Amino acid sequence: MAEFDVDLFVIGGGSGGVRAARIAAGHGARAMIAEEYRMGGTCVIRGCVPKKLFVIGSHFRQEFEDAAGFGWTVPSAGFDWPTLIANKDKEIARLEAAYTTNVEKSGAQIVKSRAVIEDKHTVRLLENDKKITARYILIATGGAPNHGASIPGIEHVISSNEAFHLKELPKRIVIQGGGYIALEFAGIFAGFGSDVTVIYRGDNILRGFDEDVRTHVRTEMEKQGITILTGCTVTRVDRHGESFTTHLSNGSSIGSEQVMFAIGRHPNVANLGLEKAGVAINPNNGGIAVDHFSRSSVDSIYAIGDVTHRFNLTPVAIREGHAFADTVFGKREVRVDHANIPTAVFSQPEVGTVGLTETEARAQFSRVDIYKTTFRPIKATMSGRDTRVLMKLVVDGTTDRVLGCHMVGDAAAEITQAVAIAVKMKATKADFDATIALHPTAAEELVTMRTPTARHVRQAAE
Ligand code: FAD
Ligand code: NDP
Repeated sequence: MAEFDVDLFVIGGGSGGVRAARIAAGHGARAMIAEEYRMGGTCVIRGCVPKKLFVIGSHFRQEFEDAAGFGWTVPSAGFDWPTLIANKDKEIARLEAAYTTNVEKSGAQIVKSRAVIEDKHTVRLLENDKKITARYILIATGGAPNHGASIPGIEHVISSNEAFHLKELPKRIVIQGGGYIALEFAGIFAGFGSDVTVIYRGDNILRGFDEDVRTHVRTEMEKQGITILTGCTVTRVDRHGESFTTHLSNGSSIGSEQVMFAIGRHPNVANLGLEKAGVAINPNNGGIAVDHFSRSSVDSIYAIGDVTHRFNLTPVAIREGHAFADTVFGKREVRVDHANIPTAVFSQPEVGTVGLTETEARAQFSRVDIYKTTFRPIKATMSGRDTRVLMKLVVDGTTDRVLGCHMVGDAAAEITQAVAIAVKMKATKADFDATIALHPTAAEELVTMRTPTARHVRQAAE
């Protein structure tokens, strides 16, 4: 009789857990995966995918408006929120089924239950109180929205989870937060026709992004009629029937039909049995502490993805899950390289970024060259839209290596994915220059910026 019921028990059927279970099963492991909600996890069910569908849907407003300059007469466009929600739900159900089928085809077994850890080799399924022993346990439980301090009226506040299932499009919405989710949903709701106010506690949105990106995105969003209030927070939310009054720390208040917070997410570590098994938490970020191979403080227990709170992005969770399965079951040690992860904010306009910001580069390198341009995209010349694209390269002035690429504008995410290959390969500015432009595109600016717009040389300490 086998020493353990299974070789691998994965807790969480999201991006990372599913990849790990499938690859481990492919390596011959007897793998079981528990999911308490819906297979596919955050990205598929209430994250990247439905969000991107909403972004695409909301962008049509601009397309209709822009068409006039090209000779089109577009009758006054109507929009039906329930149709959007129903079609999105259908697509998400299809993807959920595909995830389930793919896991089953790999040979891994799915159990629909919450699972908690009993000891270093045992999990308990809450659905039937059954205990399963496993040689290895992988924690891939993801994260959940934070709501911050318990202010009066917090029970009226929605998160991105609920935003995907609203019965009606709110006429007005207040969104607190200045990061990915707040800005993406600000663009979504504004595109569909809501009056949007973003409340951010700091001096400018997208802290951590390149300063030029932050300024550019804010200006562009404001041009589209989104109100961005900085230097304040929400202190109270009062309900009046179907509408709300949001009170701010600066003494003002705003009326709306919905109030949403997007102020970060916390790793799902609570009530998992981590203490029982002796799994340590990283005191710096509240996620499960892991080494370069995603191994926790307990040698039979690993953790990947958002629950480790390292880089909370789907492709990172997938890569970590794959690397775990190869390392533990594939006889091939794989360490995930977290440097130069490209990322996009699907705000409108979009942000694409890879590598170092100007501030980071100047802190790390003694000579930094900046190549920056803003320009009117060709479409705007005829549509008449008041918009500009930002492109920026951050270059090591000593080695000529491109350290970072930052873009705001249409297709920024698509362009950045391709540029990320060059940045990862340590391409130099000379390599960019040697590449012939593809005309007429916005991306050609990346290979035609010849003269630095700024040169920063750090003086040696006296
Ligand atoms: P998850 O996908 O969260 O999966 C964890 C799973 O574990 C969940 O299904 C949960 O139900 C289950 N679970 C939890 N506890 C238990 C338990 N005890 N027992 C059984 N099951 C359990 N990333 C991008 O790269 N691009 C994007 O555009 C993007 N957009 C996003 C938009 C939104 C609104 C949000 C919220 C996130 C977005 N993300 C995006 C982030 C991305 O969704 C996550 O980084 C990714 O899903 C993390 O994968 P994971 O496997 O770590 O966890
Ligand atoms: P972010 O970390 O991106 O942004 C959180 C925002 O909330 C920041 O502006 C932060 O301000 C602010 N904030 C934090 N705490 C408080 C508080 N107590 N009161 C008021 N404001 C506060 O988190 P999100 O929730 O937007 O998204 C979570 C994560 O999900 C992202 O970091 C990303 O990893 C992932 N994601 C990725 C997407 C993508 O790839 N396109 C899309 C959506 C999510 P400050 O900056 O001052 O700390």
